[in-house]
Amino acid sequence: MGRRRDFLKTSALAGAAAGFGAFEGRARGAVLQAGAPSAPSWIDRPMRWAQLTLVEDDPGKFDAAFWLDYFRRTQSDAACLSAGGCVAYYPTEVPFHHRSAWLGDRDVLGELVTGCRKLGMVVVARTDPHATYDDVKAAHPDWIAVGADGQPRRHWASPEMWVTCGLGPYNFDFMTEVTKEIVGRYRVDGVFVNRWEGSGMCYCEHCRAGFRAATGRDLPRTAADPAQRDYRQWRESRLFELWERWDAAARAANPDGCVIPNTGGGATSRLDMSVIGARAPMLAADRQARHGLMAPWAIGMNAKEYRATMGTKPVAGLFSVGVEEPYRWKDSVQSADEIRLWVADLVANGMRPWFSKFAGTLHDRRWLAPVAEMFAWCHGAERYLRNERPLARVGLVYSQQTAWFYGGDRVKDRIEDPILGWYQALVESRIPFELVHDRRLDAEHLPPLSTLILPNVAALSDTQCAQLGEFVRRGGGLVATYETSLFDEAGAERRDFGLADLFGVSFRKRRDGPVRNSYLRLEHAAAPGHPLLRGLEDAPRIIHGVWQLEVEAKAAFPVVPVTLIPSYPDLPMEKVYVRQPKTDIPQVFLREVDRGRVAYFPWDVDRTFWDVLAVDHLKLMRNAVEWATREAPPVTVTGPGVLDVTVWRQKDSLTVHLVNLTNPMMMKGPVRELVPVGEQRVRVRLPLDTRAHRVRLLVAGDVPAFRQSDGGIELVVRSIRAHEVIAVDLT
Ligand SMILES: [Zn+2]
Repeated sequence: MGRRRDFLKTSALAGAAAGFGAFEGRARGAVLQAGAPSAPSWIDRPMRWAQLTLVEDDPGKFDAAFWLDYFRRTQSDAACLSAGGCVAYYPTEVPFHHRSAWLGDRDVLGELVTGCRKLGMVVVARTDPHATYDDVKAAHPDWIAVGADGQPRRHWASPEMWVTCGLGPYNFDFMTEVTKEIVGRYRVDGVFVNRWEGSGMCYCEHCRAGFRAATGRDLPRTAADPAQRDYRQWRESRLFELWERWDAAARAANPDGCVIPNTGGGATSRLDMSVIGARAPMLAADRQARHGLMAPWAIGMNAKEYRATMGTKPVAGLFSVGVEEPYRWKDSVQSADEIRLWVADLVANGMRPWFSKFAGTLHDRRWLAPVAEMFAWCHGAERYLRNERPLARVGLVYSQQTAWFYGGDRVKDRIEDPILGWYQALVESRIPFELVHDRRLDAEHLPPLSTLILPNVAALSDTQCAQLGEFVRRGGGLVATYETSLFDEAGAERRDFGLADLFGVSFRKRRDGPVRNSYLRLEHAAAPGHPLLRGLEDAPRIIHGVWQLEVEAKAAFPVVPVTLIPSYPDLPMEKVYVRQPKTDIPQVFLREVDRGRVAYFPWDVDRTFWDVLAVDHLKLMRNAVEWATREAPPVTVTGPGVLDVTVWRQKDSLTVHLVNLTNPMMMKGPVRELVPVGEQRVRVRLPLDTRAHRVRLLVAGDVPAFRQSDGGIELVVRSIRAHEVIAVDLT
């Protein structure tokens, strides 16, 4: 009990200091005390990454010269090469480190490192610690992961192997030795660790004892177990400790090196991105390709998720050339146009392309030419891809704590879908935007944005609510939906919205949903020409959403452009008639707070939009953002089609990326061909005190005519196939 009490006492302090949970407080504390280690000197150099993931029998048959030549042809300036962990591709001396059975006298890693060095490349060694062999299990049974049934876990895909425990001595001791040996022997610039976080819950002796010592509890066995919250935090603190240990081992062997764990993601990822972003010198965003019907902007979204906490640190966009599905056709090749679009969107969103090829054997060569062509283009355009900062002025907030503590078993519905709805709406509206992590809302970290969108960001602390209030009072715009701020940072429901004062409304303790056959009445007579109704002038009413809150106005709302038409029966058809055609119940609350503007929707416009993709909802969302943002956008693009628009500042230039997502199957991800879109009229706002002295189209290779006008330039882009970049040289 003593330990438990100490833990609670310490955690209360740490939690209070950080404003978050116990272990997070501790993990953050550790990171802060140690300070993020300095970034290696090479970290910002690589712009094009090549990854060759060898398979065990490659050393007997693969053609190293071919790959080195391909690295040269692609102008890749960094390589990620298979080194060790599951299979060692060099003559290791670490006990139980399994050498490839095909290695013979070769040192494949050494040959490739030497070859890459001759090409002047940065070299990072790849390890993968998640699986091991019978001899390891016999000698160190406690290194193996244990299932809920108490049995050691066989590997699900390679049944001759065992799954290792991610939080015990296999990772902490054995993999530290492996890391030391690789960096010491080859002096590689870094180690990229794949699948390092363990493979699901582990009930081994180390995990059980470690968790009990830290929390006084047994490991959780069900999703509803109250120990889950402590477990999330304990696991996180163990993993951050592990990362620090490996990183220290790498830096001891090469002071200009580092460990780059394969980690990170969006709202539903498990490790705190605000800590990861503070600590990592660079990361690779590992969204390799489309899954199912995923939209083609999914990779750009990944870039924004990482940038939200990485800031200007480099993030590589790790893409595969294959079909990425749960069925794992790892030796497949994707359609070249789909790879092109994926890479275009990751580059447009600020990531550096990193191709990943599994196995040294080429079963299918179709990807080689397109990837070489794209990388060569990136090399030619490098000056304009070295972004200093995005110029977007709208931020879409994502909140891991909302996913962890409020999402529960409805995390898709409550967390992901509202974010995806806004993402789609902003892309369709051609509004450049960034993602913002909710733990970076303080003045020091919040990027210079004019508007923040809160897509059902339900779990917010008092501090975070105060930061948002400050943002609005300084003149910012805020657009929020549904249960935003109705819960605290630990997921406990509040008596009223944390942002009640900003919204000007209070919660009336009633939720409805899923609601069917309910509508919104557009109050054109009461709010003639209101900007919220732009594009809906001919619509007397439009469909409502699915989840609705009953709220009460506390402030005065002189203009109410949208009111409720309550649900009425949808069957039998004879009974489908409106019972109450007009109410005075507002369904959007618009108000000015000091110099800022706040739009609050007490329903799930964003979630319903992602669910149904109705264009009327798109218009409402776009109009709300434009109303809240009291300034001209950094870029306006007018013309047919769907474009992902991003705007960047480099040292002496500015770029506008236009990625053509107007695929016939755009609402679904698969790409058969790229269909060019026609003429786009573009207006770019230039940074203060700058003038454009040259404009080029970096994909078409044209020098278009442009007109200087009132703080900006105007030009026409005749056609876009996958991607166009307007590069504006500034003086
Ligand atoms: Zn374990």
